[in-house]
This record gives sequence, structure tokens and C-alpha cells, in this order.
Amino acid sequence: GDVVSRIAAGEVIERPSAVVKELVENSLDAGARRISVEVKDGGLSLIRVTDDGAGIGRLDLPLAFQRHATSKLASDQDLTSVMTMGFRGEALPSIASVSKVAVTTFTGRDAAAAHLTLVGGVAGTVTDAPPVPGTRIDVAELFYNQPARKKFLKAKSTEFSHISHAVQQAALAWPSVHFRLIHNGQDVLNYPAVSEGRDRILQVYGRTFVGSTVEVLGRATGYVVRGVVIDPVHARSAKTPQDCFVNRRPVRSSTVFHAVTGGYASLLAKGCHPTYVLYLEVDPDKLDVNVHPAKREIRFAETDRIHQLVAQTLRRVFSGPER
Ligand code: ADP
Ligand code: MG
Repeated sequence: GDVVSRIAAGEVIERPSAVVKELVENSLDAGARRISVEVKDGGLSLIRVTDDGAGIGRLDLPLAFQRHATSKLASDQDLTSVMTMGFRGEALPSIASVSKVAVTTFTGRDAAAAHLTLVGGVAGTVTDAPPVPGTRIDVAELFYNQPARKKFLKAKSTEFSHISHAVQQAALAWPSVHFRLIHNGQDVLNYPAVSEGRDRILQVYGRTFVGSTVEVLGRATGYVVRGVVIDPVHARSAKTPQDCFVNRRPVRSSTVFHAVTGGYASLLAKGCHPTYVLYLEVDPDKLDVNVHPAKREIRFAETDRIHQLVAQTLRRVFSGPER
């Protein structure tokens, strides 16, 4: 791969979990209903993502690995793409430039599936493969040509836990998609599709967590917030997620964190952390898209209104007439 690709790769692809996140997002963008993530050695020897999505056309396949050759540029009505705009068309070229990639993909429109391999971003020629709907991407020997980057990585078990977290976050955002995660041949996560967000939270965090939470829902013009927060009365959950999704993207939002904390943390017993899984739907024009998307930070155009909505929603739930 060229130097530009490898520099870009360093920004987008910090560790194996970043590869998983990008590949899973592509599968979701392709409308997949089933996504399987198989990794070996914490993702260092192999990351394989298989989906049943729309596939990549035979002629488009080499283009998908060229910088900024995204097929998603046209769909700027779609908030999903607005939020990934900073890296439009950069994930696959970046990943390919620092690994050995093999892709098999089938759209249903060609006679056979198309297969392509790349080594350090240098593509071979497209060949035929048996027609299995969807896309399978193998990313082998990540950072094989970046010894400095490789040295910075943590133990395989730590890298795997980042991968597992990335899959869980995607799964929480997309309950209707079946997710599987396999590590060194062993099933680690298996979340069949469900229709209710609450059922997915149950799959990910378990009955103890869900049993000690309360559902919340609040609306304001241009905003909806829904999800679960720990009920101060039963706050004893061992796991303490503080998950926030904005338009289905996992993000870290200090505004939401402070609104939750201020909203009901004073009700929590000593030693209990505010614990929540919150989904925000925000009008696209109320988001600042100039924030580095890989850092999972987000800026709201109207921070005060978000804060107010979340804080008020929790206050209503925890001091309402039903309690
Ligand atoms: P972006 O997602 O920003 O468009 P990527 O580098 O992640 O850029 O992907 C490049 C292109 O490859 C996508 O626009 C899409 O057309 C295609 N693509 C990648 N992964 C898949 C997939 N799993 N299924 C179908 N198309 C895919
Ligand atoms: Mg992408």
C-alpha cells in the first residue's frame, strides 16, 4: 500500500477491534440480517466477517479498496452515512494496506461470486467463486508490515475483549440482526435476531441487569430518548454499562453522561454507578458532523436541549406518580 493509505490506516485502524467495527458497519450498511465475526488470536492472525447482505458487484470489487471510492456518497439523506462521512471510502483501503485481505462476495446479479485477494493493499485479479449470497472478508496478519503498531498492541485476550465489546455495541444498536462472535473456534457470543431492543439488552447484559433497570422514554422536537437505566432501588448490578447510541452509532457523550448523573445519581446508594443503555434519535441537522468519528465522540448542535431532555426524562420516571 502507498504511504498515504498507511498513514490513514493508522488513524482509522488502531487495533483489531477497529477492523471489526468497520467491517461490521459495512455489513450493516449492506442490509445484512446475519453477521458472523470469527477471530483468531485476538484478531491478530485472522478476522473474518461474513454477512448475508447485498454483496459487492464484480466490477466494483477492486474499487471498494481504492481510497474514497465509496458507493455511499450519494446517500447523504441517510444519517448513518452523515455520521461516517469523515471516513467515507477509507475503511477498506486502510485495512487492506496493513494486512492480507481475501474477499468473496456475491450480489445475485452475476453468474458467480467474485473473489479478490490483496497483500498490503496491492490487489490481485478478480476470480470466480461459488455463489453464496453476501460478503465474506478475511483480514489476516494485521499490521504485518507495521511492526511499530503491532508492538503497541496489548495481550491477545485484551485485544479480544475490545473486539467483543465492539460486537456487543453493534448488536445493541441492531436488535433485528443476528450476531455471532467466534474466537479460536469457540462460540463466544450468539445473539439471534429479536424484535425488541429490551430483548437484545437481555441477551447482551443478562437477566440480572435487565431485572434491575427501568425503561425510559422521552421526546422533544427533533429528539427521542429511550432505553433502560438502573433502578436505584435495585442497583446492585455487577456490570455497569454506560452505553449511549445516537442514531444507532455507539458514541461517548459527556452531555448524556452528565444528564444521567445529575438526573438521578443522587438516588443511588453509595458505591453504585449510574448504569444505562440509552438510544437517542436526533435530527441530522442537530448534529455536528465535523467531529472525528473514529473517536466515537459526538457534538450536538443544541447541547442544552439534549441535557434537558435526558435529565427531565429520568426525573419524570424516578419521581413520577407511579413510584
Ligand atoms: P464506506 O463504508 O465509507 O463507503 P468502506 O471502505 O468501508 O467505505 O467500504 C467501501 C465500499 O465497499 C462501500 O461503500 C460498499 O460499497 C462496499 N462494501 C464494503 N463492505 C461491504 C459489505 N460487507 N457488503 C456490501 N458492500 C460492501
Ligand atoms: Mg465503511
